[in-house]
Amino acid sequence: MSAPALSVRSSIPAVLANLPVRIDRDEVLRYQGYKKGVDVPTADVLTLFDEALALGEELMAPRLVYRSVPVEAQSADLIEAAGQYLHIPDIGRLWGGLAAVGAGICTVGDAIEARVGRLFAERELPLAVMLDSVGSAAVESLAEYINDLLCQAALGEGIRVTNRISPGYAGWDTAEQAALFRICPGSPIGVTLNDACFMAPAKTISFLVGIGPEARVDHYFTQCRRCWMPHCAYRRTPLAAATVHR
Ligand code: SF4
Repeated sequence: MSAPALSVRSSIPAVLANLPVRIDRDEVLRYQGYKKGVDVPTADVLTLFDEALALGEELMAPRLVYRSVPVEAQSADLIEAAGQYLHIPDIGRLWGGLAAVGAGICTVGDAIEARVGRLFAERELPLAVMLDSVGSAAVESLAEYINDLLCQAALGEGIRVTNRISPGYAGWDTAEQAALFRICPGSPIGVTLNDACFMAPAKTISFLVGIGPEARVDHYFTQCRRCWMPHCAYRRTPLAAATVHR
């Protein structure tokens, strides 16, 4: 499957659907509390995983909305863009000088969580929990794929894209989810944000990337190792294995 076209500097919200998702069994089991190389799943657990995977693949509807805006000002812990103030600890050092930021929201839709709710109501607890983990792994895989897609698209234009960060992680206050949604509304793909900054559907990830010729991408040595773009001419390290892990 060829990678879909996505302009890294798209000022108009770009919507992509039918994106690929690679659900990693180890990742799903990690959500279940298994430690890779330590905890060995039983045959029953693997059968349950296969059932949940098939169900998840049938139910998911991966899609993305993405928009880029120029950076208006930048300091050690702050990015100003599109009139929004994004307070992200140490971002000046981590990302270097930026020309723009890209805000994205990706989701696998609400059908998985609806089925999980029904399975809980029917007391099908093991399958409910496994399917919920499949949904979490699916949206994580989707976000990684999009980060790779942006990276490759940007390199072709002579610019760089950093790794993604999300509100609620690495010291970035969850409350700034609202600012991210003002830059890139979730409505084109049916994602809403409530007053407590929870997104619906739940299996959704919002993210920000830095963009520019001077953006720091040294951490991409690990990113390249697991990247989805097997024929990327800019690869910094050999592809290690089919995995969603960095
Ligand atoms: S292989 Fe590396 S440089 Fe190429 S798109 Fe993937 S992460 Fe970016």
